[in-house]
Amino acid sequence: MIISPRVKGFICVSAHPHGCEASVREQAQYAARHPFQGPARALVIGCSSGYGLASRIALCVGAKTKTLGVSLEREPAPNKTASAGWYNNLAFDALAQEQGVESYTLNQDAFQPDTKQRCIDLIKEKFGQVDLVVYSLAAPRRYVAAEDRTYSSVLKPIGEDYQGKTIDTDRGQLRDVHLEAASEDEIAATVKVMGGEDWQEWIETLQQAGVLAQGCKTVAYTYIGDKITWPIYGDATIGQAKKHLDVTVANLNQGLKDLNGQAYIGVLKALVTQSSAAIPVMPLYISLLYKVMKEQGNHEGCIEQISRLLRTGLYGDSCVTDAEGRLRVDEYELSLQVQQEVQARWAQVNSDNLEQLADFSGYRQDFLKLFGFGFEQVDYQAEVDPMMPGVKS
Ligand code: NAD
Repeated sequence: MIISPRVKGFICVSAHPHGCEASVREQAQYAARHPFQGPARALVIGCSSGYGLASRIALCVGAKTKTLGVSLEREPAPNKTASAGWYNNLAFDALAQEQGVESYTLNQDAFQPDTKQRCIDLIKEKFGQVDLVVYSLAAPRRYVAAEDRTYSSVLKPIGEDYQGKTIDTDRGQLRDVHLEAASEDEIAATVKVMGGEDWQEWIETLQQAGVLAQGCKTVAYTYIGDKITWPIYGDATIGQAKKHLDVTVANLNQGLKDLNGQAYIGVLKALVTQSSAAIPVMPLYISLLYKVMKEQGNHEGCIEQISRLLRTGLYGDSCVTDAEGRLRVDEYELSLQVQQEVQARWAQVNSDNLEQLADFSGYRQDFLKLFGFGFEQVDYQAEVDPMMPGVKS
């Protein structure tokens, strides 16, 4: 079949396998230029896209780290493409093989106990133990078998409704957005899905099984942002979930003492990923941010951010650290020069001056690239078998 983008709101329901491969290769080239002394063996939870995929590539190519990756992706069907993450995983495993670095990938729900057990069995069999656990899950829901209940996360403000502006990404037009304040149940459910509980379950289960090595490190990712995004991120439901990571990291550090291990929170910048595209207001903020940071010469993508976090933070000693002990690679985004300029443009931006003040075309390009579209080296007119993407049908 000939695969073209089928965008539905903030998601693209088709994905191009060769474009996904191109995206993995581009990130691998960057990682190859930024080698570092990293861990020998790592588990990456949420490995198939965005920051988790970048973590896996930076580790494999930059530090020759053997990895086990876990993610939940849609498999292909004869007339339907797989999800982008499924093709990304395929491309990653091929890359790792070329590099002569072991990799194993599981397509399973990370929240479930049997997935954790399967990982333990694989780690024991293939690696013995792991030296790093990256927790990069961004999930809309979590099924808790013990309660036979599914919790759904929501992206809503807390306390009062939010009235603001956002981009209609299909039309490239600004529009008003009204978001109702979350209920107490919705806040609690969002913390259940996106807070630290499952991260802690992972680390405790792995530790009890004896598969965490001496000196093992673990990291989870967060976003903090500034004034514009606080009402819908920092002070909103997702922000509550992220605050729960601070409590979790303290618990984990207590539990990891015996192993001389260390838990970290890495604070990353706002970027287009499948998850951030779903957050109201974020696409407009990110479009403005891209324009300003590109003009000021300090724009970074997922691989640049993660490579820097690993090289200077987890496996270096030059990363900015805040009062809470979090590793910060969001310092350029949050610098006064960037935030003042973004805020000034936020006040002026409208549908007519969108391209002038914001980098909406850059946003859209990056969005399509998440699904493997827009890579020069890919022939999008060629027939591709979605089931066997390496083979032309
Ligand atoms: P993403 O959507 O690109 O990736 C999410 C990953 O989670 C995918 O690999 C997906 O398969 C996996 N996943 C989802 N549900 C799963 C399940 N039930 N079982 C197994 N795997 C599952 O998201 P991202 O933006 O890279 O986010 C990763 C982390 O980085 C999140 O904690 C997010 O809050 C954080 N972060 C993101 C940004 C941003 O701007 N995108 C900024 C700072 C921090």
